[in-house]
Amino acid sequence: MVLAFVGQISEEEMDGWISRLSKLLPDETIKPFAKMSADEKEAADIAIVANPNPAEIEALPNVKWIHSVWAGVERMMAELAGVTVPIVRLTDPELSRTMAEAALVWVYYLHRDMPHYRKAQSEKVWAPVDYFKPSQKQVTLLGMGALGSAAAERLKDAGFKVAGWSRRPKIIEGVECYHDESGLLEVLAKTDYLVCLLPLTPETRGLLNKEKLSLLPKGAGVINFARGAIINDADLMALLDQGHISHAVLDVFMTEPLPAENPYWSHPSVTVLPHISAPTDSETASQIVAGNIVSYRQSGEIPPSVNRNDGY
Ligand code: NAP
Repeated sequence: MVLAFVGQISEEEMDGWISRLSKLLPDETIKPFAKMSADEKEAADIAIVANPNPAEIEALPNVKWIHSVWAGVERMMAELAGVTVPIVRLTDPELSRTMAEAALVWVYYLHRDMPHYRKAQSEKVWAPVDYFKPSQKQVTLLGMGALGSAAAERLKDAGFKVAGWSRRPKIIEGVECYHDESGLLEVLAKTDYLVCLLPLTPETRGLLNKEKLSLLPKGAGVINFARGAIINDADLMALLDQGHISHAVLDVFMTEPLPAENPYWSHPSVTVLPHISAPTDSETASQIVAGNIVSYRQSGEIPPSVNRNDGY
């Protein structure tokens, strides 16, 4: 049996994935789609993907399921709408740990007012501001999935008041849990630092608009680690200009890399990050993907897959 690797990534990246996975799966032959014969395409029963070209997936008629080596699936949900086989995304505890670390680091950055001290230094001004304990501030996580729930634990340990918003109701010790639209409106009004870890779906696209962001108390900070399209850029900019939102840390954008002419680059109240909050660890990701393939070979059961109706 040949496993197809389908991806619109550099040849070097693809070779790296294939070599790591091949070492972990010595009984399997993994080939890039471009190097597969017609018979191999016919025989392939699993496609491992990284931003796949939909036409290449369609050219693998007997694929039973697809395993992405990445966590985000919004592009596949849109582009592989006609593909009905299950899509398994990467859920990796190492990715959750890395994102939890990023949430803590950038919440601390806002909490200890680093943007203020950066500006003060550039102006050679000695300008201490009041210290607040973490217990005096609330962090709200939008999205309490693999990444949001790990971030919640880390922030809780650091002493912050932590709230989380998800689609379905949740009970998590030490975290004030909210769901649905009214829950969102309620929690935003109490939030000092908002951290977005939602998937991009038709429901979350443009969710953080003027109406919602205006509910944050004056001076709140916003961190987006999820996807750029969840925030309405013009609305965020207006609220930053008014000083209603004190600072935004943005790791994800509508267009990446962020174009040079984008006003976020030079906005004094914006920290631009180049989509680095939680990079995929190809070592641990390969172990997860290989483990899922081995257990499928043993049990015939496809690992938990993305819910197409929910879009994540
Ligand atoms: P996940 O496990 O699927 O969790 C998604 C969470 O969002 C769940 O709690 C879900 O609620 C909630 N949610 C989804 N739609 C919602 C809605 N309409 N209203 C309220 N809550 C909603 O996803 P994850 O693994 O934590 O990843 C989240 C996102 O992070 C990914 O989709 C990706 O875009 C982004 N990401 C970014 C980076 C980076 O480096 N910047 C790296 C990896 C991932 P339920 O719990 O009720 O289902």
